Amino acid sequence: WKHAPATFRTLLENSRFHGDKVFVVYEDERITYEDHYRLAATLANRLVTDYGVRKGDRVAIAMRNYPEWIIAFSAVLAAGAVAVPLNAWWTERELRYGLSDSGATLLIADGERADRLAGARLPAIVVRGDGANWADVVGEAAADVTLPPVDLDPEDSATIFYTSGTTGRPKGALGSHRNLCQAPMTVAYAMTRGAALAGRDPAQVATVRRITLLTVPLFHATGCFAVLLPTMFSGNGLVLMYRWEPRRALELIERERVTVMSGVPTNAWQLLSHPSLRDYDISSLGSVSYGGAPAPPKLLERITRLLPDRTPVNGYGMTETTALAIYNSGPDYLARPDSIGVPLAVIDVKVVDPAGVELPAGQVGELCVRGPVVIKGYWNRPDATAEVLVNGWLHTGDLARIDADGFVYIVDRAKDMVIRGGENVYCAEVEAALFEHPAVDDAAVIGVPDEELGEQVGAVVLVKPGAETTAEDLQEFLRERIAPFKVPVRFWFRDTELPRNPGGKVLKTLLRREALGR
Ligand code: ATP
Ligand code: MG
Repeated sequence: WKHAPATFRTLLENSRFHGDKVFVVYEDERITYEDHYRLAATLANRLVTDYGVRKGDRVAIAMRNYPEWIIAFSAVLAAGAVAVPLNAWWTERELRYGLSDSGATLLIADGERADRLAGARLPAIVVRGDGANWADVVGEAAADVTLPPVDLDPEDSATIFYTSGTTGRPKGALGSHRNLCQAPMTVAYAMTRGAALAGRDPAQVATVRRITLLTVPLFHATGCFAVLLPTMFSGNGLVLMYRWEPRRALELIERERVTVMSGVPTNAWQLLSHPSLRDYDISSLGSVSYGGAPAPPKLLERITRLLPDRTPVNGYGMTETTALAIYNSGPDYLARPDSIGVPLAVIDVKVVDPAGVELPAGQVGELCVRGPVVIKGYWNRPDATAEVLVNGWLHTGDLARIDADGFVYIVDRAKDMVIRGGENVYCAEVEAALFEHPAVDDAAVIGVPDEELGEQVGAVVLVKPGAETTAEDLQEFLRERIAPFKVPVRFWFRDTELPRNPGGKVLKTLLRREALGR
């Protein structure tokens, strides 16, 4: 054995030992660990020889949840390049921004995204759809294929995941190989602790084959780091969905004997409130887990009522923590339904005041996280990086308190953001797009409570004197500029100035109260 540092390549090589066990299920397609390894290794070689991809080059992946997303991701990392997953719901303009900001030199896309980016003039490998060349590129995957030689260090950059920014444009969260190798371990720690808490033998729990239904996109941190990589690491199975649909999820749980359902709270809520729930056999489900957005206590009630003896799991994390950082599960969660739980084994947390001074238990301040899952920073944004990363502590922008037993409670969000069904919408980005409209004098984007999605996007607009516009007009205008999920569904028009503090910041709490009538 030559010394092999902890990089994705180690994880990929190791996954091969799971041989002909099924790794990925998509519709009627089944990909074993051996298939995945061969395809990824073959593509990695092609990237190097045919596309000139070198260590550190950025390769963008713009696809829905197809198995090729996973193969492409594995291949890019194995070749030593940096994977840049782009949000498949983005408009052409947003996708182009992702390509230029990351400086991607190659695009691996599905037919729809490739069409959307037809004018981008970038070499592309296209899967599924007209003009697909994936089969020609990958060709026959040989049994004896090996990874292309490249020297990688755990500190080398591995991924850029876009996370929206308070300043409007999305920022690329730059993750290292160490970050991504740590993620599956963090999840393993959580599972061991969770099993022990529930009075089970963790060693036995670990030998039960886990089939996870992925209900969220792979291009987000949760899907990639909290679900895909832990599955690959442990040789378990992953069931993909093209798009989230509760009835389809019920069918898949029954058909594939899914044991874990993972996603955002909205997924679990919609599944458990589906009128056809009783028509499906979902007895295989051992755990319902979610995170990425506040989980309403009534969700936990519903899980305990409809699926007694199952382990509910609420995970807290961010793109900047390579997904999972803090989590609450089983009896702990039932005892403290409003808490996000305790930090995972390798993670430190603290709560600080605006001056950065640590606060004692019980006091509310900004939640900070430290540990090997915290990203290196934002791609090409030293200022933004310095704002959130202070002496190794990541400032989350969430307001929280920690009780005497170490349980964390999220109290509010300090960052100006709406979480719509787990998808983050940064108000500044929507506002910037609204300002481009000739009739808009001033605008503020706010979160509107929504039973299923948690929050919806709303906008308060001051129209220029003499100008005219309507909600429909503004929506149509925005759809050209920002992804559909960011377009406000409710508008309030006003003819007086928006309330602002002396610093010029819109008083959103006041606006929300005015708009929503409370
Ligand atoms: P992704 O959307 O990339 O899959 P994510 O939702 O875990 O991952 P981000 O999109 O970066 O991470 O959003 C992080 C923010 O989401 C946190 O700062 C917090 O405001 C909110 N959040 C995440 N998990 C929880 C949770 N369990 N409870 C309450 N809020 C949460
Ligand atoms: Mg999110």
